[in-house]
Amino acid sequence: MPAHPLPPLPQPGPDTAEFWEGCRRHELRIQRCAACRRARFAPRPACPHCGDLRFAWVRASGRGRVHSWTVIHGPTLPAFQHLVPYAAGVIALDEGVFMVGQIRGCPPEAVGEGLRVRVEFDDVGEDVSLPHWRVVGGAATGGGGRARGSSAAARRRGGRAGRARGARTRRR
Ligand SMILES: [Zn+2]
Repeated sequence: MPAHPLPPLPQPGPDTAEFWEGCRRHELRIQRCAACRRARFAPRPACPHCGDLRFAWVRASGRGRVHSWTVIHGPTLPAFQHLVPYAAGVIALDEGVFMVGQIRGCPPEAVGEGLRVRVEFDDVGEDVSLPHWRVVGGAATGGGGRARGSSAAARRRGGRAGRARGARTRRR
């Protein structure tokens, strides 16, 4: 039984199923236009730059920097109440697209524009993993129990077998 209520879960559709399947495998997938070669996110059938319908899914580096952010103090959904205060923001990926997510690995007040982050995933069910962002390197000046990168890495090494044993991230 999860330690906390589940967050709202994705409802994969024709455009987004590949993205969520990537998350399940701890891969961050984005679309790249076959005509103009530009990356795009969120997933959609046509290129917002040139309108072409041809594209490929590619695995993003999973790295980027904080573009903008806010600190959530609550009240919030029950699934997030144990996290407050926490930072969430818009991440500019190295591929040139933007994604939104929680920013972990340093105190919320230490988050700032340009801070380097990398993606991590929470396994919230057998077939659902949700991405969030963790501060990279020396920018983290503390964070106490929030610095949990090693457990995430261990889960990645464990892969599906780890999940089959019921291993899950407990958000804190
Ligand atoms: Zn294009």
